[in-house]
Amino acid sequence: MNRISVENKIEALRKELRQHNHNYYVLDNPTISDYDFDVLLKELQALEAEYPEFYDANSPTLRVGGEITKNFNTVVHKQRMYSLDNSYSKDDLLDWEKRVKKIVGETNIEFTCELKYDGASISLTYEDGKLVRAVTRGDGFQGDEVTTNIKTIKSVPLQLKGNYPAKFDIRGEIVLPFDGFHKMNEERIANGEEPYMNPRNTASGSLKLQDSALVAKRPLECLLYSVVGANLNIDTQYQLLEKTRSWGFKVPTIARLCKSMDEVMAFVEHWDVHRHELPYETDGVVIKVNTLRYQEELGYTSKSPRWAMAYKFKAEQVSTILNEITYQVGRTGAITPVANLEPVLLAGTTVKRASLHNADQIEKLDVRVGDTVFVEKGGEIIPKIIAVDTSKRPEDSLITTYIKNCPECNTELYRTEGDAKHYCPNEYGCPPQITGRVQHFISRKAMDIDGLGSETVELLYKEGLITNYADLYTLTIEQVLPLERMAEKSAENLVQGIAKSVEVPFERVLFALGIRFVGETVAKKLARAYKNIDALMYASVLELATVDEIGDRIANSVVSFFQNERNLENINRLKNYGLQFELSADKLLNQTEKLKGQTYVVSGVFEMSRNDLKKLIEDNGGKVGSSISSKTTFLVAGDKMGPSKRTKAESLNVPIITEQEFLEKLA
Ligand code: AMP
Ligand code: ZN
Repeated sequence: MNRISVENKIEALRKELRQHNHNYYVLDNPTISDYDFDVLLKELQALEAEYPEFYDANSPTLRVGGEITKNFNTVVHKQRMYSLDNSYSKDDLLDWEKRVKKIVGETNIEFTCELKYDGASISLTYEDGKLVRAVTRGDGFQGDEVTTNIKTIKSVPLQLKGNYPAKFDIRGEIVLPFDGFHKMNEERIANGEEPYMNPRNTASGSLKLQDSALVAKRPLECLLYSVVGANLNIDTQYQLLEKTRSWGFKVPTIARLCKSMDEVMAFVEHWDVHRHELPYETDGVVIKVNTLRYQEELGYTSKSPRWAMAYKFKAEQVSTILNEITYQVGRTGAITPVANLEPVLLAGTTVKRASLHNADQIEKLDVRVGDTVFVEKGGEIIPKIIAVDTSKRPEDSLITTYIKNCPECNTELYRTEGDAKHYCPNEYGCPPQITGRVQHFISRKAMDIDGLGSETVELLYKEGLITNYADLYTLTIEQVLPLERMAEKSAENLVQGIAKSVEVPFERVLFALGIRFVGETVAKKLARAYKNIDALMYASVLELATVDEIGDRIANSVVSFFQNERNLENINRLKNYGLQFELSADKLLNQTEKLKGQTYVVSGVFEMSRNDLKKLIEDNGGKVGSSISSKTTFLVAGDKMGPSKRTKAESLNVPIITEQEFLEKLA
C-alpha cells in the first residue's frame, strides 16, 4: 500500500469504529457482533503501530487507556459550575414559578424536565469537533483536568458528527449504571476485596484514578444536559438536548417539555415511582425554564441558577438503635449534639452517626439512649433522626438531659434568647475553638495554605507552638520538624505555604479572620465598601448597616470583633507579617461611586456580556436588581427585551436607557 491509501484506510476504519461505538454505547443498539468489532479494532491497531505518523489522540484505539496521570492539573472553568436549588413539594415549585414569572415578566413559561442523574459532574470542552479537555466540577470555580480518564468512557464522543459549533463546553454527569456496578462488586468479592458502597462514589472516585487503563475497565457512562459557549444558535433547553444528541452525545430521551406545573408534577410523580426501573441512579428531577433567553434574564444567585430547580425524591428511611449522645464544639463555640447509632445500611452507605441539631430538637423528639429511631438521609451528607419508635422503648430508659458544661473545657454553657444552640463562652481557652479558628483561617476559600492541614493545626496547638492564627507566621522549620509524620520536605512546604499566603487578597483575608456571620460573600461586600481594614475597623453599626445586604446582626458582630483587644493585636501582627489589608490597586482602579444609591435592572441581549455589565454597575457603586419595581432607577434595555418589561417600566415611570446611554453615564 502507498502512504495515501494507508492514511485513507486508517481514516475509514476509525470512522467505522466510531459509528459502531456510537450505536453500542449511545444508542444501545449495536449493529455488529463484538467479535467483528474486535477484528476491526485489531486491524486499526496494527496499522497505527506500523505507521505511527498517522497518530491521532482521538483514535478509537485509545479508548482502552494506559496513560498514567500522577498529578491532575487544576483548570479554571470559563463559566462557573453551579449547584441547584432544591424543592420538595408542589407548593415549592409553584412559588418558584411565581418568582420566575415576576422576573421575566411573562405569564406563559414552559419548562423542560430532566432526571437528576446521581454521579459526578463533568465539563467537556470541544474544539472543531474534537474533545480537547475534560474537567471535574471541583469547587465550581475550578476543577481537575481528567481528560485521559474521560477518553476511556465509550459514550463520550472523541469526534463529533453533524452540524456542531466550532467551540463549546458541554456539561453532564458521569454515572455508573447498577448493572456494571454489581458486576464490579461481584468481581471484588471473588477476589477477597471489600465491595464498593454505592455507584455514585465509585463513579466520582474513578475520575481521579491515576491509571486510565483501570478507568477503561469500569462501565461508566456520561449523560449530558447543558452547553455553554457563544453563537450556539439554540433557543430552548429542549432544543439543546435534541441538538447535542445529534452531535453524538448521550442525552437521555426521558426529558419532557411541560407547559404547566401540573404537567411538571405528573412527570415528577411518574419518575418517583418508576425510577427504580432505570439503569442508573437518580435522586430527583431537574426542572428548567425552557427558553434560553429567559434563563439569561433570570441569571444566578450566589450558588445556583434562578432558572432551574431540582425536585428531590423523598429520601429512604431505616430504623436503628441509638447507642449514645455525644457533643461537638465548633469554632464559634456552638455545641452540636451527635447521635451515635448502631451501624445501619441506608441508601447505599453505612450510617453510624446522625445530627441532633440542638437541645430543642432532642426535647421535641424526646429521644433517649437505647431508643429505636428512624433515620433519614436528606440532601445533607449527615443523616438525621426524624422520629422515635416509642413502642420499642426500654422500660428503664432515662429522659435525655442536655449537658450544662463544655465537654472539652468544662466551662458552663450559655444560650441566648432566640438562639437554638448552646455555646461555650471560653473563646480563648477552649481547644476546639482555638484550633477551629486556625483551621478556618487556612481553609481553601480563606488563606488556602498549601502544605498545612487540619490535623497538623491540632498537633501544632498540642505542642504549644500556636495559640492563634498570627502565630503561624512565626513558625520555623526547626520547630515543626519534630512533629509526628513530619519530614524535611513537608516541614519546608508548610513554612513556605504560610509565607506565600501573604499574597492572598484582602477580601479573603477578611473572610479568614473568622468574624461571626461574615462569610465569603459578606467579606467581599465589606472589602469593596471599605477598601481597607482601618476604615472598616472604625465603622459604626449604623454606618455598616448602610452597606448593601449588611443587616444589624452582621454589623454588630463586626463592631464587637474589632472591639476585642486580642483581635486587634492579631491583626496588627498580621499586618507586620505583610498580609494584605487593603484592596489591591487594580481592583481599586476601576471602582467609582458614580452610581451610588441607584438600582439598575438589565434586560435583553447586550454588546458586552451581561455579567460584565452587572459588574460595571456594581464596581461603580450601583446595585443590580432582579425585577422592576418602584425602587428601580433605570432599566437598561438590550436587544430582544420582553415587551411586558417595557410596559411594566413605563407604568412605574422607570426610565429606560440603552447600553450606550448607560456607558455615557460612566464616561
Ligand atoms: P447539587 O450538587 O445537589 O446542588 O446538584 C447540582 C448537580 O446536579 C449539578 O452539578 C449536576 O452535576 C447535577 N445534575 C444531574 N442531573 C442534572 C440535570 N439533568 N441537569 C442539571 N444538573 C444535573
Ligand atoms: Zn469549651
